[in-house]
Amino acid sequence: MTTTTDAAPLPLGIRRLPDAEHAACRACGTVCGPTAPRSTFTALGYVDRLGVREYTTPAEVTFATCDRCAALDAHAAATLDAHPAIRRAIGSPSIGRHRIVSAFHALAVLGVEPAETYTADGLTSLLDRLTAPGVSAAWSSRFVPIREADVSRDTAAAEPWLHVGSELRAEIRRQYTDHLADRMPPRAVACPSRGCAWCGVGTVMAKRTAEPWTPHTMSPASLGGVGPHSLAVHLCPTCERIREDGGSIRSAVLDLVDPGRRLRRRRPYEPEVNGVRGWAVMGGRPNAAPFAHLDLDGVRELLESADY
Ligand SMILES: [Zn+2]
Ligand SMILES: [Zn+2]
Repeated sequence: MTTTTDAAPLPLGIRRLPDAEHAACRACGTVCGPTAPRSTFTALGYVDRLGVREYTTPAEVTFATCDRCAALDAHAAATLDAHPAIRRAIGSPSIGRHRIVSAFHALAVLGVEPAETYTADGLTSLLDRLTAPGVSAAWSSRFVPIREADVSRDTAAAEPWLHVGSELRAEIRRQYTDHLADRMPPRAVACPSRGCAWCGVGTVMAKRTAEPWTPHTMSPASLGGVGPHSLAVHLCPTCERIREDGGSIRSAVLDLVDPGRRLRRRRPYEPEVNGVRGWAVMGGRPNAAPFAHLDLDGVRELLESADY
């Protein structure tokens, strides 16, 4: 019976490095030979049964970079260069590259190659959804800046990314599905309560992952109607934005007939427009165009004559 530490069971997906000449790839964790480029990181603390503890002297950890992960680094740099606006928004080019390559790492966990080129929206969606789980997936994140419990520096991933646990894998798969949905053309989403309570449109175009309809409880009086019972309704994104900005259903109608406030500018006060009622208190079929249930021409004529 052997009693060496080598006999200690290793977690699934983890192997021991053959010798000190080899090192684990900092990203995918795979074993790299002596000629692979090395980089050294600093670990500031470690986790034990009592929680996170600080090293008295920060510990240096050396990793390698395999060919495949070096190619992802280069692709991330080229992708950032192709998007000057995103590079400016992120600020630091090194942080920008890190965010892109981390998202590429998340794709690599799933065995997915990054796209050759990205649109600005596609890249933004990729970063929003996959950078964070990609950072957690990197082999080096087990050691720096805080060394996790039960990890050993003389180990590596048995296969690229095999060290990534099932929970993180599931999260990456979820985020990747949403990322693919973001890149699909928008779809028509029907209102759960048939039509927008204010303008009455029945469907709006939205991203696959978006929920465009905002639920509200409104009194009939606030919609220009009568009745004692409040209504469970929804607002479309346009009306909801006006409401969030402090506007009313009247503001929504006036914005529609007088978009640039050209007519309203003639009077210092907001016109009192009669007869503005929400679709929810009118009934009938949902509108194809906003506020089609109202006499919009009449409202416009009223504004033009400035007779209010
Ligand atoms: Zn690698
Ligand atoms: Zn609306």
